[in-house]
Amino acid sequence: MNIRNLGTLAPHTQLLGVATLTLLMSMSVNNAVAQTFDRSIRAAENREPTIPRPDQDRAVQQKLAALKAKTGKRPNILWLIVDDMGYGDPGCYGGGAAIGAATPNIDRLARGGLRLTSCYAQQTCTPTRSAILTGRLPIRTGLTRPILAGDKITKNPWNDEISLAKLLSGAGYYTLLTGKWHVGEAEGMRPHDVGFDEYYGFYSAQKEITQSKDPRRFPDLVNNPARLRAFEAIKPDDHLIHGFKGGQTNKVSQIKSIEDMGRADKELTDFTVKKIKELADGDKPFFIEHCFMKVHCDNFPNPDLGSLSAAKYYYKEAVAEVDRHVGEIVKSLESAGVLENTFIFFTSDNGPQMDGWPDAGHTPFRGAKGTTFEGGVRVPGIAHWKGMIQPGRESDGLFDLMDLFGTSLQLAGVSTDKLLDDRYYDFIDQASFLIDDNGKSKREAVYFWWGSELMACRMKEYKAHVKVILPQTTHLHIDMSTVQNVGLAPWLFNLYIDPKEQMPVGHRRNAWLAIVAGKLKTHGATFKKFPPKNIGL
Ligand code: CA
Repeated sequence: MNIRNLGTLAPHTQLLGVATLTLLMSMSVNNAVAQTFDRSIRAAENREPTIPRPDQDRAVQQKLAALKAKTGKRPNILWLIVDDMGYGDPGCYGGGAAIGAATPNIDRLARGGLRLTSCYAQQTCTPTRSAILTGRLPIRTGLTRPILAGDKITKNPWNDEISLAKLLSGAGYYTLLTGKWHVGEAEGMRPHDVGFDEYYGFYSAQKEITQSKDPRRFPDLVNNPARLRAFEAIKPDDHLIHGFKGGQTNKVSQIKSIEDMGRADKELTDFTVKKIKELADGDKPFFIEHCFMKVHCDNFPNPDLGSLSAAKYYYKEAVAEVDRHVGEIVKSLESAGVLENTFIFFTSDNGPQMDGWPDAGHTPFRGAKGTTFEGGVRVPGIAHWKGMIQPGRESDGLFDLMDLFGTSLQLAGVSTDKLLDDRYYDFIDQASFLIDDNGKSKREAVYFWWGSELMACRMKEYKAHVKVILPQTTHLHIDMSTVQNVGLAPWLFNLYIDPKEQMPVGHRRNAWLAIVAGKLKTHGATFKKFPPKNIGL
């Protein structure tokens, strides 16, 4: 790879910044060295390059075929997505009882399966939630930032996006999304409009709902009748919605108080548990995406459950409650006799929202939700499959949550050949990484975006930033931060010796800067043929 060749640059790689490009032009890397470092191969121009692992792929194909022969059914897929949980919150990631909220059920899930330590989300909710269902980066679908009250989208991104739920539903799976959606609540954008057979949940985040119910936190709205009336026109739906493919949409109940909000996750968990019992007896395999409302601020304790944490703070109560529900859902799989035929993946959709502190989680890394430093994007990632994934495995192999898209298709036996070639796909099928006893990641690079800005790239233990989000005060990574170009050289960190990204190893002390930064250039060039989509966000 010769990064002197900038002639192929797409207009969008202007995002890299003039100074950075100047530096890149001054570097060149021996082709052979570059190919040894970057082992990935691009199979098609619209697919993310993949590290070939033919042996583990074959072994896992055989393992999957053997299970199917035994059960007579394709496997169930269950995603457990927590909102805004920090990498350091669960006990198995260094938190738990040590920071005031024990997480025995999440820890048990990790001990019984594979604990990923380099698992990446996008830096906010909507981008991650849409990316994992489309296998495509937010910049490609237009869902580049959270949809908030009052937002008017100019184009429904789902008009031409194809969700995993649609693909799995079409392949004979029963598809259900329980809980938080946050990818649009207008007709045509709801879960049951975009491929899910059934939806039972809330369209938006907890704070979006409770800002008109909580007089202590929002007195200028809640105690001002005129403003409250005006807010009615733009507020997100505050009902628990039960929707079905075809359009039937029922309002089950309304959140009228912070106590109601506090009870929501228990109600959602009870629904998922009930559905697992029903679906386990049916003919179809199922795909359930269970999205917790907690632990996104503002958190309110469930008044029916009593105190659950040692810390007593609402955030900690929320972590402990989510853990309890994780335990209930996993137990329901076991009781229904389908634990051995269900792939479970537990994660968070982004890092902790420090802007909400102390109603916020813990990350050992720099930054938080809203930034592309590790604190914003590195999240817990636990893959569990009794009898299929060896208990106690750990891996630092790169995993992007978008890989859940390709992995789930593989598990369901849906060929990725069915995907369209008019668009770029960023996912990698990581089934063999997650399932093989000695599985290695097939991903060589993770790219980090903030809105429509290309920010950074991680390869191996190196991460190069060409733009950064810098908070202008201690912990306001969203409300008081700036996006900045880096200077002459990208900020290159070695995450193994500097996990907090504070000591750049730069162009003076690292041989790989040109390759990592060059990977960004190659990534940017994919937008030349496959341009980004703008939906007015
Ligand atoms: Ca989130």
